[in-house]
Amino acid sequence: MSCVKDKKLHIETEVVHGFKGYDPHTGAVSFPIYQSATFRHPGLNETTGYDYSRLQNPTREELENTMACLEKGKHGLAFSSGMAAISTVFTLFTPGQHIIVSDDLYGGTYRICEEIYKRYGIEFSYVDTSKIREVEKALRENTAAIFIETPSNPMMKVADIASISEIAKSKEVMLIVDNTFLTPYFQRPLGLGADIVIHSGTKYLGGHNDTLAGFVIVKDDDLGENLKLIQKSQGAVLAPFDSWLILRGIKTLGIRLEKQQQNAIKVAAWLKEHQQVEKVYYVGDPDHEGYQLSKKQASGFGAMISFTVKSQEVAKQVLDRVQVIMFAESLGGVESLITYPMVQTHAAIPQEIRERIGVNDKLLRLSVGIEAVEDIILDLERALR
Ligand SMILES: *Cc1c(COP(=O)(O)O)cnc(C)c1O
Repeated sequence: MSCVKDKKLHIETEVVHGFKGYDPHTGAVSFPIYQSATFRHPGLNETTGYDYSRLQNPTREELENTMACLEKGKHGLAFSSGMAAISTVFTLFTPGQHIIVSDDLYGGTYRICEEIYKRYGIEFSYVDTSKIREVEKALRENTAAIFIETPSNPMMKVADIASISEIAKSKEVMLIVDNTFLTPYFQRPLGLGADIVIHSGTKYLGGHNDTLAGFVIVKDDDLGENLKLIQKSQGAVLAPFDSWLILRGIKTLGIRLEKQQQNAIKVAAWLKEHQQVEKVYYVGDPDHEGYQLSKKQASGFGAMISFTVKSQEVAKQVLDRVQVIMFAESLGGVESLITYPMVQTHAAIPQEIRERIGVNDKLLRLSVGIEAVEDIILDLERALR
């Protein structure tokens, strides 16, 4: 079994079977954890294909190939975290180059741009990438890349991947998409014209809030080689055991996401009717600005909901009172989690940008899990009462 050879498989099947899907040496249906730092050479100038685990490891390789398959790319690279993956991609650029970045995005990405890569002479501008004209206006002579998150975090704005890719191609600019929120199960940016797809595998791919991981997937061979060179030189690779945990997580990606989305649709509809709730941001809500575009470029809406409540006191009360839903950073796992973006995930973003995009003291972000939806709603009902 290999999803590269059989192009007709459904994504639900691909996630279960991965790339090789089993160990050809023993028939083990759970891909083995090759907990080895180095590999014995058969002789001088001979190799089994593996030399040292920073360069390549069989368990990591199975995961990397699985991710390349799922994203319909050619080269997959697994990293020790999503941030390690993002950092590796930024290492492709050189001093004097300019990158356009979504203004509403993961706080850690903003921080690595502003506090790390700016030091190396790379320029960044933050724009509302859900508006094509804003993206065009931000282009400069030295623009080398556009980095988008869609749906964006936490305001759930949807960027048109295919249209932005056309602009990028016409200017020979690279398009990078952080696909963490929808995963290849619902959205495959490479097919819409993106050059690089990034993931925090910590979220839906792992799915159990137990492992950090990151991915970069590309189609182009030269780009793949270049990224491999950076990966093996910098060494932020994913460990064999963690690779296995993510492989196991991916097997249930389909059923988890279907259930999480089903729950999210109901929770979003319920929140919209609640007196203490001001506004609900969920791309699966037909009233959401990006609803039609989401239907066009993705096969699902995911399970991330942001909402504002009537006052900061209500927001605090919700965080204090929830019991089934846990007050914790992160998202995408089987457990429902609620976060307070202003002080948690988005603390690194300056107040002026936060206010412009709407991350304020009344905004909460909910990652809907696989629990019984009645229990999630009852928990919110009690917390908002
Ligand atoms: C969590 C997250 C990251 C960072 O990933 P880590 O695995 O925490 O390093 C990047 N982008 C998005 C959209 C995320 O949610």
